[in-house]
Amino acid sequence: MIELLAKLTAKTPSLNPIGGKPETTWEDVAGSLPHLCRHGTLYLYAKYIDIGLDPQLHAEAKAVALAKYGNKDAVRVKALASIALDQALNTGHCQHCQGSGQIANREGFEQCSHCNGTGRAKELSQRQLMSALHVGVNNVKNLWRPRLNELLADYQGYDMAAEESLRRLKKNN
Ligand SMILES: [Zn+2]
Repeated sequence: MIELLAKLTAKTPSLNPIGGKPETTWEDVAGSLPHLCRHGTLYLYAKYIDIGLDPQLHAEAKAVALAKYGNKDAVRVKALASIALDQALNTGHCQHCQGSGQIANREGFEQCSHCNGTGRAKELSQRQLMSALHVGVNNVKNLWRPRLNELLADYQGYDMAAEESLRRLKKNN
């Protein structure tokens, strides 16, 4: 995750300077986020400002996925939408090493075995996806994994747009 955004995710009510002038507030940050579709906006608010719109965000994520893939397998499409949203909100860092890629031991530090030192959360395994959606391995490979990747790419696009806006905000202050 980009350093600037990492700072913003510190969920503190204080108005500490984000960089730039000291009176930069969370309202400034909110105002700097790009104008996106409702889904993208709710996602960025939930991820970076934590203003608690989760139920709306979940509903929107499902609606967007249904619009994309149709109602044919609606239960699975909605489940996939939740999985993608959850991954997008929580990616960035490995839970075991808090994203550092290292775990403290008696001698100092060792590489985190959960993320192999990358610090990033692992993507869902084929098996996890199979059991979450109650489908077979070929179905995951040919249909659901590509769809999951598509949904995740959308979120990545929102992240990139936010990152760019926040950089601009920082530079202008
Ligand atoms: Zn780790």
